[in-house]
Amino acid sequence: MTTQQMHMNEQQHTQIDIAAVEDFQSRFRGDLIRPDHPLYDEARSIWNAMIDKHPALIARCTGAADVIEAVRFADRNDLLVAVRGGGHNVAGSALCDDGLVIDLSMMKGIYVDPVRRIARAQPGVTWGELDRETQVFGLAVPGGIVSETGIAGLTLGGGFGWLSRKHGFTCDNLRSVDIVTANGELVTASKTENADLFWGIRGGGGNFGVVTSFEYDLHPVGPEVMAGIIFHPLYAARDVLRFYRDFTAAAPNELGSMAVFLLAPSAPFIPEAMWGQPAIAIIACYVGAVEEGQRVMQPLKTFGKPLADAIKPKPFAAQNAMLDAGQPAGLQYYWKSEYLSEISDDAIETCVQYAAGITSPHTRVALFHLGGAVRNNDEADMAVSHRNTEYVLAINNGWKNPADNAKQIQWTRELWTAMRPFSNGGVYVNFLSEDDGTRVRAAYGSDKYDQLVLLKNKYDSSNRFRVNQNIQPATL
Ligand SMILES: Cc1cc2nc3c(=O)[nH]c(=O)nc-3n(C[C@H](O)[C@H](O)[C@H](O)COP(=O)(O)OP(=O)(O)OC[C@H]3O[C@@H](n4cnc5c(N)ncnc54)[C@H](O)[C@@H]3O)c2cc1C
Repeated sequence: MTTQQMHMNEQQHTQIDIAAVEDFQSRFRGDLIRPDHPLYDEARSIWNAMIDKHPALIARCTGAADVIEAVRFADRNDLLVAVRGGGHNVAGSALCDDGLVIDLSMMKGIYVDPVRRIARAQPGVTWGELDRETQVFGLAVPGGIVSETGIAGLTLGGGFGWLSRKHGFTCDNLRSVDIVTANGELVTASKTENADLFWGIRGGGGNFGVVTSFEYDLHPVGPEVMAGIIFHPLYAARDVLRFYRDFTAAAPNELGSMAVFLLAPSAPFIPEAMWGQPAIAIIACYVGAVEEGQRVMQPLKTFGKPLADAIKPKPFAAQNAMLDAGQPAGLQYYWKSEYLSEISDDAIETCVQYAAGITSPHTRVALFHLGGAVRNNDEADMAVSHRNTEYVLAINNGWKNPADNAKQIQWTRELWTAMRPFSNGGVYVNFLSEDDGTRVRAAYGSDKYDQLVLLKNKYDSSNRFRVNQNIQPATL
């Protein structure tokens, strides 16, 4: 009998009868990609090229029926499973070594009901694709600020972007999901059906099953909004951040923004002498009327002596794609993150000092402004946590050359260590890196984490879905 070696878990291998794989193939409509398949290397590539994993089998699903077959196949053969949505998670949890990848990236269906203001989308959809279909009607789901990020992982971890101060986390706008649980059953979860599961998947990531369809509430946005980026030289960063602190404290909920340290790009609207020099930028997006946005942005546009001001009326979808080029797929990425309650003078000083050491055009040290409608829901309403956070510190380091990995990782960790005293103790689960597994409890807080363990015991007691920011069932 011919067999194929696959991973059961991190310690054990299992031999799978090739006939079992062929039986799975006969029930499966999508492509099953094995290591000898011409598309194998492409299919195991994700956004973060630092993650180099070799799955035994990649099951490219075409719909919910394929997902059910894949989960049942994993269950029958006790396989290690990874789930891939948009493949954008920095920790690389869309892949696993030797096991089965349930790849949803081909599931691109989107249906928009503009009258009821509801959208349904499959898990291979990216934010750019969803924006395109919803913005035709002047509607949007609060999603991420990079258009190539997958809606699936982002929504399940909570999700925030330019619309969040007005309409909350992405998962606050989720009406229901269809989800294949660890036993291979497809169920609907909403506030009225399987409500406990719905509580858990809104923030609990991929711990409870494979979501095959997301149903969202839509909100009127744009299509034109007042938005863009304004650059200042690094020497002005202390003043700019103190201004930003006051500006955000008084900001209406329509204003989403972040301050970001970076190297000034070689763009025609930036003085050439500044290209590649450390700088600070404020990126902002006003999601109400353009004229109102112009008024609200006036203090931002007139503060100090900007190097360049590219804040203007523009399509909302263009604002959501503006940052794509700076964080392209296929580079080396390593992130660290913390939630902050405030931007103190000492935190500013620390950031400014480290920003002088930025060497890659793909490095971003961001302070994203949260608050606003994120606080409208109760902390107990769902798994997503730390609603009282005011700013998200995201040290998003990216660079081209793998030979620089040790140096860049060290710089990231040093800045993170220096910034930790300013943390409120929380962290965003979707910004955790591969070596951040011990921080999952902090991402939820102890009480919420313990509640999630009870739910994991109920829905996935064997921890089939463990290649993620894992909530370990107490039964193991
Ligand atoms: C450049 C960049 C910009 C980002 N910007 C933002 C932002 O503005 N706001 C924000 O909130 N986050 C942002 N993120 C973080 C983002 O939320 C996470 O990376 C998220 O995990 C991406 O989802 P994905 O489907 O692309 O990822 P994947 O890597 O495909 O999936 C990540 C994990 O999610 C789970 N998962 C994915 N699909 C499913 C499914 N259908 N069912 C069950 N589990 C599933 C799995 O556990 C998987 O390991 C950004 C990330 C990047 C790289």
